[in-house]
Amino acid sequence: MKALVFHGIKDIRIDEVSKPKINQDEILVMVSYAGICGTDARIYNGTKKITPPRIPGHELAGVIVEVGQGVKGYREGERVTVYPMLHCGDCYVCKGGRTNICVNRKTIGYEIDGGFAEYIKLPAAAIKKGNVIKIPEGVSDIAAAASEPLAAAYNGMLRCQLKGKETVLIIGGGPIGLFHVQLAKIFEADKIILSEPMENKRKLAKELGADLCLNPLAEDLAETLKDFTGGEGVDCLLMDVGRVDVIEKSLNYIKKGGRYVLFAGCPQGAQITIDPNWIHYREIEFTGASSSSPANHRIVLDLIASGKIKMDPLITDIFPLKDWKKGFENKSNYEGLKALIDFRGEF
Ligand SMILES: [Zn+2]
Ligand SMILES: [Zn+2]
Repeated sequence: MKALVFHGIKDIRIDEVSKPKINQDEILVMVSYAGICGTDARIYNGTKKITPPRIPGHELAGVIVEVGQGVKGYREGERVTVYPMLHCGDCYVCKGGRTNICVNRKTIGYEIDGGFAEYIKLPAAAIKKGNVIKIPEGVSDIAAAASEPLAAAYNGMLRCQLKGKETVLIIGGGPIGLFHVQLAKIFEADKIILSEPMENKRKLAKELGADLCLNPLAEDLAETLKDFTGGEGVDCLLMDVGRVDVIEKSLNYIKKGGRYVLFAGCPQGAQITIDPNWIHYREIEFTGASSSSPANHRIVLDLIASGKIKMDPLITDIFPLKDWKKGFENKSNYEGLKALIDFRGEF
């Protein structure tokens, strides 16, 4: 079969590899589409480290073509997507219920071969832990292949702890930011503000429910936000851009007692400088959001099925495998929104 294989930094190739053979407790899936994540671009650039050789791809949809004899609850022909992170269940965070930040987590596409291939073998652990999720009726393979980042965005929204009638500021209008705009509506935020330099993304955010879209390159965000919130600042900020300068600037946008959620990952080794008194005197809750859970992934698939979350406007590119590099480059340059690789034949 054809697969996209990571051999080292700036060295990803389309290889002919053998089709995986499954054990009796595993499932073989024929991949239809796999999403390109910012992390995949970071793997290529070397700012996210994985051990080669490895098939990346942690966002995927496909159809089951083989089910091991010992596997219950799945059958050939069913469409599935995968929640890619496998938690251990034994570490202190897992025992405390926060499996998404498991100490021993292993992720399909990072430590286990992923979805940038014609076929993927789903390990027994993924099946047992509920990570193999049937795609509900009314959700296309294309939407399902882009649902993993939505599950992660959903976790970020939970971390906001919106209490109703609150103002949310979302920084960055990429796929995650645009998911957050839609989720903030579902979570009944009073006002949804998006900061994004690219006009087409601001326009889309408006259509998807943002009340106010700001261009951080054209205006003084701190001033505009002050005016908009009657001098108070926003209740909650979701940082969907992994850039130190943007993060450092954004600290002043929050009101006293507000919440700040760092959603986006930064390049390894990044450092921010903040005024500790800004957190101390204002009692700002400063936190992060990482990964998600199979339960959240099921919830967001239902949100797509019910039409509450719109996926179509966010999926801007579907590349044949041979053009994978264009997709990765677009990600690095913030061009387009969600891009997928098509694995249904024609390479
Ligand atoms: Zn991702
Ligand atoms: Zn664990």
